[in-house]
Amino acid sequence: MFSHCPASTIKEKCGVFALFAPDEDVARLTYFGLYSLQHRGQESAGIAVSTNRKLVCYKDMGLVTQAFSEKVLTIMKGESAVGHVRYSTTGSSVERNAQPIVAQAHHHIAVAHNGNLVNAALFRDELNTNGGLKGTTDTEIMAELIARNPAPDLETAITDCMDRIEGAYSVAILDRTGTIYAMRDRHGIRPLCIGRLGNDHGWVVASETCALSIVGAEFVREVNPGELVRIDDFGPSTVYQLESPRSATCVFEFIYFARPDSYIHGRSLYYSRKTMGMNLAKEHPVDADIVMSVPDSGTPAAIGFAQQSGIPYDEGLIKNRYVGRTFIAPDQRIRALGVKIKLNPLLEAIGGKRVVLVDDSIVRGSTSSQIVRMMYDAGAREVHMRVSCPPVKYPCFYGIDMAEASQLIASTRTVEEIQDIIKPDSLRYLSIEGMVGACGLPKERFCTACFNDEYPIAIPQQLQLDKLKFEDPSSRAGVKNGIDLKPDMTRVFDT
Ligand code: SF4
Repeated sequence: MFSHCPASTIKEKCGVFALFAPDEDVARLTYFGLYSLQHRGQESAGIAVSTNRKLVCYKDMGLVTQAFSEKVLTIMKGESAVGHVRYSTTGSSVERNAQPIVAQAHHHIAVAHNGNLVNAALFRDELNTNGGLKGTTDTEIMAELIARNPAPDLETAITDCMDRIEGAYSVAILDRTGTIYAMRDRHGIRPLCIGRLGNDHGWVVASETCALSIVGAEFVREVNPGELVRIDDFGPSTVYQLESPRSATCVFEFIYFARPDSYIHGRSLYYSRKTMGMNLAKEHPVDADIVMSVPDSGTPAAIGFAQQSGIPYDEGLIKNRYVGRTFIAPDQRIRALGVKIKLNPLLEAIGGKRVVLVDDSIVRGSTSSQIVRMMYDAGAREVHMRVSCPPVKYPCFYGIDMAEASQLIASTRTVEEIQDIIKPDSLRYLSIEGMVGACGLPKERFCTACFNDEYPIAIPQQLQLDKLKFEDPSSRAGVKNGIDLKPDMTRVFDT
């Protein structure tokens, strides 16, 4: 749907891409950038372009390829663009949920956000005095804080906003003149990088480096924690820097969220995941015939485990890669299939074997139970489960809505108790040291709060109580039409 956009009202999640390239087909290139960030959100996609000092925005439900047609991209001419892909927790209409959010008051901007503010509630009443807040999303609050700021220049409005908001935010902002701003919270929890188009034809801002090559851009640098970067005809320049006590990059980006071909802090995520698997094999060796992964996210760690242990790697579970997106309500018979909707075992590969089964994480545990049962049903003689991160014990307030504490299988259980529930022959997790060591940076550079309760940003008590206040449990991320798509890991990027 096109709009000259009123502010949308969303509580949402995500991948961010922006492009400053006045001579290029910016909407089309942004489409391809979003396409490569599709793993960060599949619920909706949107692009806003600046054209003749106006913002034009189009967003719709579905994958990038479903939301945009050739006709739409052809119409969307402009000098600069900002785009967004989203993973929802509420599943309501595109007007309510999709980004970019466009806000127009003293300033006219389009905002694309990945993260989660922890103090958004402080500003709700202030912004609602004259009405105009349509939803409960922190992205809308951020956009309105900036747009309604009477400061004569947009930069002051943005820096005022940065001074006031707390939490995780990696944000791209487009103004109606085509200038792009990239801003990142003082801890740099979610990734955000800058790239340069070939022949100096323009500049890119993206959640991940994997989105650069698809548009012919090369990596220049990451946006620093607490930094505000302006991108215009003169290229990128730092225009503000918040005090940054320490960086606290989400270690789950290294474990699972970001694409394995992306780099964060100059480190290959594929290589980090493979090293996690190698460390896992060192910490928890086992006598077995074959190493298999829970695809796809467990595969690099499984390969690392196999290389370190000398046990051969083989595929044992085939994943249907198209399950993540369905609009057709399944009947009870289909629902009862559970994880079989996504995974099918290779009987010849598994039968009679002692299997090391490597997964990247266990959150709620229900999927893991089903997969272990599937392995035994397929004829596995033994199943030794190895997990390439520590037990997830605490909830995330910085943009990953993985589950409430009470839903985390490890929140109140020992590894032995979890093994009794999931029922493999053995269950072992990678240590925090083994996980962080594989990422190639000191532990102090990461957020590891969901493993050890060490939250880098204080969480207001009310936020903890309100975390799920606005959410309908039946429409939580990962649950669509009654199918729990990834019941073990409801991974959501909260904005
Ligand atoms: S709590 Fe966990 S998922 Fe959330 S930002 Fe920290 S490491 Fe990442």
